[in-house]
Amino acid sequence: MTTDLAAGAPLDTSALDELRAALTGTLVAPGDPAWDAARLPWNVLVDQRPLAVVQAADAHDVAVTVRWAAAHHVPVTAQPNGHGASRLLDGAVLVRTTALDDIWVDADARVARVGAGVRWGDLQVALDGTGLTGLVGSNPDVTVVGYCLGGGLSWFSRAHGTGAGSVRAVEVVDATGTHRWVRGDDPADADLLWALRGGGGDFALVTAVELDLFPAPQVYGGLLAFPAEAAPAVLRAFRQITRDAPEALTTWAAVLHLPDAPVVPEPMRGLSLALLLATYLGDPGEAERLLAPARAAGPVLRDTFRPLAPGEVGLLAEEPVDPSPAVLAGTRLHTFDEAAAARLLEVAGAGSGTPLMQVQVRHVGGALARERVPSAAGTADEPYLLSGLAIVPVPEAYGPVTGALDGLFAAMDPWSTGTAPLTFLDRDETVARAYPPATVDRLRAVKAAVDPAGLFRSNRPVNP
Ligand SMILES: Cc1cc2nc3c(=O)[nH]c(=O)nc-3n(C[C@H](O)[C@H](O)[C@H](O)COP(=O)(O)OP(=O)(O)OC[C@H]3O[C@@H](n4cnc5c(N)ncnc54)[C@H](O)[C@@H]3O)c2cc1C
Repeated sequence: MTTDLAAGAPLDTSALDELRAALTGTLVAPGDPAWDAARLPWNVLVDQRPLAVVQAADAHDVAVTVRWAAAHHVPVTAQPNGHGASRLLDGAVLVRTTALDDIWVDADARVARVGAGVRWGDLQVALDGTGLTGLVGSNPDVTVVGYCLGGGLSWFSRAHGTGAGSVRAVEVVDATGTHRWVRGDDPADADLLWALRGGGGDFALVTAVELDLFPAPQVYGGLLAFPAEAAPAVLRAFRQITRDAPEALTTWAAVLHLPDAPVVPEPMRGLSLALLLATYLGDPGEAERLLAPARAAGPVLRDTFRPLAPGEVGLLAEEPVDPSPAVLAGTRLHTFDEAAAARLLEVAGAGSGTPLMQVQVRHVGGALARERVPSAAGTADEPYLLSGLAIVPVPEAYGPVTGALDGLFAAMDPWSTGTAPLTFLDRDETVARAYPPATVDRLRAVKAAVDPAGLFRSNRPVNP
């Protein structure tokens, strides 16, 4: 016997056998030899304990699982990968969508349709040679669906808005077990589409998504690495560049503290660096003109700037792609002036002793301040997003790391709005920190309308 969490009643384990028999894919349950590997998310720090893991072979398996979960009053969730794993999925049947990997592109119509297991890196590679791009973020390994359901902040969001705003339609299995496309054709569907564009995984299990693609005949980008002593000058150049940058230019500044560990090559071990990263949708010469203040900020230790194919954009930040024990959190900044930059370096620069691996400020704003289509992700006109990323090598490091993140955000409080995109929420936070009260109320109303029994469980639930 195991517990049926939603109804509080015991669930006979033979019910799991019934589900297993109905699937083309695999069901892994506690006690199976593959259990620990199957339940582990990308973020291996999160010791999640689902009721069972369904490795769906296709969309039909997803529908079978949802209908089974509804019949047995068991919550169900999808976790394609687990970059955004939170501890809120315990007790739910967890569906892995990795095998839903179809990619279809119509370059003339500037649209892509991808399955719920497709990672951004794979979609972008499929766009090589088309002169088009999707609204890819900094990591090629996150899924298109997981990212867009959470809003999705792209390298190209200053030009085109959020990933969620690029979603044309979503293929779902809804709480009635119906497998269908949500295109916003009637008011109820329009509400659901609005919620799926940034409100997270609380409304349906998604099997595919249809997205707008954007012209990108030329993309230029890369990173510059400087010694840590150049950090004040790099942040000064960053502020100068971002003061009146065109929307085609996206610039991020960061301080990076490489761990003193064997995973880092010997000359780099324990080193702190200042970074400036950028992409430009246009001519490389114009990009270099706009970025000139950065090149003057100090001795350049590494320079990866070059014309990029769409498939290379997600790689330029050189973020970890292998499963990692990571903590990521962010907050929007209404101002990033000299005092803010100085405070940031005081708490997270070289010599601060911070256990955080990277503290980054992204230039945002631009098209993010305008509504492209109705979406829960909405608009945000703050010009900057501050984030902290840490790898927690041993469990004892968790306390100091989360303490350092709290310290960073407390130190930057005078310049913060306290809000963050859903995909930059900290650990077990819910949508209430990401969105204004009116959006949260509307998300709750949609949840009540489409999933009154609370069948779907998001990592960022709309209800506390
Ligand atoms: C190193 C790193 C870099 C990142 N960079 C960026 C960035 O540049 N921009 C940005 O916006 N975000 C970024 N993120 C955050 C990332 O977009 C989120 O973690 C997001 O959740 C996608 O990750 P995933 O595909 O692993 O989804 P998962 O973590 O597997 O899923 C996240 C949640 O999405 C929902 N979900 C996913 N698939 C489905 C589905 N098929 N049906 C219903 N619900 C579903 C569920 O609620 C699930 O819990 C980054 C994260 C990391 C760790």
